[in-house]
Amino acid sequence: MSKRVTARINLAALVNNCQQIQTIAPHSNILAMVKADAYGHGESEVANVLESYVAGFGVATLEEAEALRDAGINSSIVLLEGFNFPHELAIADELGLDLVIHHWDQLELLLSSSFNGVPKVWLKLDSGMHRLGFPIESWPAALERLKETRFSASAICMSHLACADEPDHALNEQQVSAFQSVVEELPNAKSIANSAAILSRPDLHFQWIRPGIMLYGVSPFGVQRVLSEYEPVMTLLASVIAIRKVEVGDAIGYGASYVCSQAKRIATVSIGYGDGYPRAAVSGTPCFINGQRCEIVGRVSMDMITVDVSEVADVQLGDQVELWGQNIRVEEVAEFCGTIAYELLTGLTGRVNYQYL
Ligand code: PLP
Repeated sequence: MSKRVTARINLAALVNNCQQIQTIAPHSNILAMVKADAYGHGESEVANVLESYVAGFGVATLEEAEALRDAGINSSIVLLEGFNFPHELAIADELGLDLVIHHWDQLELLLSSSFNGVPKVWLKLDSGMHRLGFPIESWPAALERLKETRFSASAICMSHLACADEPDHALNEQQVSAFQSVVEELPNAKSIANSAAILSRPDLHFQWIRPGIMLYGVSPFGVQRVLSEYEPVMTLLASVIAIRKVEVGDAIGYGASYVCSQAKRIATVSIGYGDGYPRAAVSGTPCFINGQRCEIVGRVSMDMITVDVSEVADVQLGDQVELWGQNIRVEEVAEFCGTIAYELLTGLTGRVNYQYL
């Protein structure tokens, strides 16, 4: 059966990106972010390939952690959002997870539990993002409480930056100084850098870096600063399923929103929002056919898009169309959709066929 939509995953590029990250942060352990199905790239495949290059993996949910253990991953797995109930903590124990502790109830639950393992505890400070973490006022008490326990020896202090992708944003300095002011007691175990901070703030690499998007060859800064030394790991492909000529004044697609100002040749391509291609992609969003950039015209449908191929020589039924990858950066597509590459990568649906190279 022919595959309508394929996400081709270049595992060699993934390894190269990871090695490149280690080169720019040579003294830091890498916690590779593989949450949300490894940013849509396939969690177990990505983790299996990276396992010998990284010190551990970051996941958001217990289910993601379980899938990694089922896939044979023995390395450290850090549960980022964590647990709120005893039965969840018991699963974390069974799976041998390391734990981010970001509020008091979690800390007390851990300390009153019969947790068998010796997890690394990542104690999280809310340094100013106001999403997860102990507020700075309660940090000393949380640390003291942790120190009474067997979990303190390997504790890591972590925080997360709200504006790392805007290096000049004033909040970065405020967060960093809040972080620095409380972590002096744990000088050897700090972590604050996501991809944007890894790239723009070498002074914040510390003992653990937490790269996500850059592992997959995509820039946290968007299209304004594409990372030429990192290779996109995913190439999203569909194919031409119909070709037609249209005349001046003809409208294309739902809502007749696009009206041709000149005669054109239109290719209908086998991908739509039912596959995770964003409906927000406006006319003008680029794709790549037979070695040439082309533009989407008209609205994205559930199963199809329509592309102006007037300038592309010899387009045939079955020709492959790249929606993003090597030739069309996903950051650029995201810009046309008014969103970020993260959302596009994690938004592919179960219809998409994955091919690992
Ligand atoms: N660290 C934490 C706590 C995160 O939540 C994330 C992702 O959201 C990352 C690191 C990785 O971020 P990025 O993909 O921008 O590198």
